[in-house]
Amino acid sequence: PALSIGVDVGGTKIACGVLRGEELIERHVQPTPETGWEAVLDAVAAQVRELQSRHPATHIGVGVPGPLNAERTRVKFAPNIYGFTDVPLVDGLRERLGLRAEAGHRLVLENDAKAAALAEAHLGAARGTESSIYVTVSTGIGAGLVLGGKLWRGRHGVAGELGHVTVQPGGPVSGAGLDGALEAVASGTAIARDASYALNREVSTAEAFALAEQGHPAARRVVGQAMRHIGIALADLQKVIDPEVFVLGGGVSAVGDSFFRGVQQAADEYAGGFAPVTIRRAQLGQSAGVVGAALAALHG
Ligand code: BGC
Repeated sequence: PALSIGVDVGGTKIACGVLRGEELIERHVQPTPETGWEAVLDAVAAQVRELQSRHPATHIGVGVPGPLNAERTRVKFAPNIYGFTDVPLVDGLRERLGLRAEAGHRLVLENDAKAAALAEAHLGAARGTESSIYVTVSTGIGAGLVLGGKLWRGRHGVAGELGHVTVQPGGPVSGAGLDGALEAVASGTAIARDASYALNREVSTAEAFALAEQGHPAARRVVGQAMRHIGIALADLQKVIDPEVFVLGGGVSAVGDSFFRGVQQAADEYAGGFAPVTIRRAQLGQSAGVVGAALAALHG
């Protein structure tokens, strides 16, 4: 079976792996450098080179947490990575890795949520559906729409930028500079920030959920509000796009059942009798981004 390398560049960590056919045979994770985009590309190149030393893969897919230019050669900006603005990612990685089209090398750039949406639609929780929307709740919040079996990018390629829709005007500001954006009030980053403020000490997202489950009132309020915002966003999308299923993934979903329950409850409450909101867990879990990037590279 064909071999390809997938890289998922996140606001917090970089994951990469090797896909053989439909199987992820290796996966590694390292922190995202916080010293600008060149350092991030250096780190990605080092990981890819290391994988290539053991696996003869010529196709490489890279998912990034931000909007791309129309040609999918540059990243316009990554709201949650320091100094990641107008990044010539394809050229930068080609150079660092010495990739050549004549040698059969192929490098494909994709938005992280769109890559994960592809993976879940082809190999995961949305397999066999006609329409699905994948939503990642992690450092940021993003989505990928698969309609009629195909990724819907929109006129400018930004379809699915769910993290930057305004849900609370005047509220906290997102990495894209928008106040009250969904990811500024409901991402993993927002949950940790609000829980830390409410408890007057440093609290991680996972700990906030754990405390909420133990009945800690402030933690319950913080995670409850975040899940409510996400559930409402899904109910809104159901009314606008009406997909068959939503697939929910990303780092925050790793906290488990209580997250899915909370989001489903809010979505049900705001469905308003139009259509049910069907939410599934990302079947590829934390690997959806890596698998999707590798698939994007294989299928061009
Ligand atoms: C970015 C999206 C990305 C999402 C999840 C958002 O801040 O704008 O492009 O998909 O984070 O990483």
